[in-house]
Amino acid sequence: MPDIRHALSTRRADDFAAWYQEVVSAADMAEESGVRGCMVIKPWGYGIWERMQRLLDERIKATGHDNCYFPLFIPLANFEREAAHVEGFAKEMAVVTHHRLIADGKGGLIPDPEARLEEPLVVRPTSETIIGDAMSRWVRSWRDLPLKLNQWANVVRWEMRTRMFLRTSEFLWQEGHTAHEDADDARAHTLRTLEIYRAAAEEDFAIPVIAGEKPENERFPGAVETWSIEAMMQDGKALQAGTSHYLGTNFAQASDIRFQDRDGGEQLCHTTSFGMSTRMVGGVIMTHGDDDGLRVPPAIAPWQVVILPMLRDNDGDAAVRDYCEGLRAGLAGQTTLGEKLRVLLDDKPGKAATKRWDWVRKGAPVIVEVGPRDVENGVVSLLRRDGLWDTATGKPAFQSPSRDLAMQTVPSILDDMQNAMLVTARERRDANIARDVADMDALDAIFGDDKRYPGWAEVQWSRPTGSDLDRVVAMLKERKLTFRNVPLHARPADGICLFTGKPAIERIYVARAY
Ligand code: AMP
Repeated sequence: MPDIRHALSTRRADDFAAWYQEVVSAADMAEESGVRGCMVIKPWGYGIWERMQRLLDERIKATGHDNCYFPLFIPLANFEREAAHVEGFAKEMAVVTHHRLIADGKGGLIPDPEARLEEPLVVRPTSETIIGDAMSRWVRSWRDLPLKLNQWANVVRWEMRTRMFLRTSEFLWQEGHTAHEDADDARAHTLRTLEIYRAAAEEDFAIPVIAGEKPENERFPGAVETWSIEAMMQDGKALQAGTSHYLGTNFAQASDIRFQDRDGGEQLCHTTSFGMSTRMVGGVIMTHGDDDGLRVPPAIAPWQVVILPMLRDNDGDAAVRDYCEGLRAGLAGQTTLGEKLRVLLDDKPGKAATKRWDWVRKGAPVIVEVGPRDVENGVVSLLRRDGLWDTATGKPAFQSPSRDLAMQTVPSILDDMQNAMLVTARERRDANIARDVADMDALDAIFGDDKRYPGWAEVQWSRPTGSDLDRVVAMLKERKLTFRNVPLHARPADGICLFTGKPAIERIYVARAY
């Protein structure tokens, strides 16, 4: 097979972490801002996030949630009302203590001691405690329930180890917050929102996920149950891709969210919350990217088709432009994946071949090039991002359908690509899950070598709690492993716990994780 000259300099197989960074910059998605852990999201990266946002927002609204907006600053006292919550977030909180600066006499500025805030304000790391206050005002009787709110916002968690998109100190997300009459309704809703995430991840982002419950040590601070969707990246590591929490009455107690029940008595609400963030953009890179750059699933591609006219700065250019404009208009009038096609005619100056490789690295699903000869012959040169190379020749695998045929077939190419990306990712994941791991030796054999391990292991365990669980978590930590989740749709347990030797009660995934 001929050597292929890939569009990136780093191969996934050689250095996955360096490859990831190279994709982020080569696909022009984001850059460092100069403030540690905070990134500038560039148009292509933000465009992908906007698409994800749009599709997820539709799903959230379709399940009866209304969008609203709460303040960025939350009084510290709000957090102090829920002990586990404040303890969990204390180490990551950015706090505002002054509202004015004064000259320091040396040409600089310092916070004005006279302008110290009476009460420090926390830059929200999550909004349960302020939305809870609103709920306590808005909920009066059982007729007001369930109350289902969502907000799109930025949050700040002072992370020590950051990586673009995957773990940043400031990130963008949606956070849903709901209040219910009783535990059953709230628990059912926690699973309903988990299902929203599963559907968005798989159907929109083409990222296969496993939905399940997090073990006790991985619970959201203040939650009674935390559920997650977990995705396997191409290096075999797990990415927690979204979480849904059943909060019991903990936050209702803290914020005094009470209602008059159907019998006229007074009760505390049961609340839930759920969040998915810009981390998912990183998940798209690590699920779908290849040695030529990003590959964006068509449903979330800001541009699904990019048309590149080959212009020569001569009289022939007008005909090429007209031909391309006809193609653009024809494609833009069509529908794929339930929406109008998003087609860009990129006639910025520059060589078509250079622009082609830029769009390959960005992962535009279909690239169409048009030169004077294509115009003469009534054809186009079409390149699919999921079939970039002709492996026989080592050259880009251009197809040359007639312009009319291209207009007819591109919608189904995009549709097929969306489905195939999910199938490919799912097959890869399933091939990299070790099942029926009998004991710790078997687990060590799987994850032993630091660089090459298949992915995840599904093991049986006895669901230890408290200090027993701490011991097990420490055993895993020594091996740089973590528990992911107890899958919703697992086979029942039938063996002994890998960690405690007791009869197992369920199955749980173990993996290295981001
Ligand atoms: P949580 O409120 O902790 O359940 O977080 C909700 C979701 O936000 C998680 O499931 C992660 O996918 C995501 N997330 C948490 N921390 C970060 C971070 N530092 N950067 C980006 N995404 C994050």
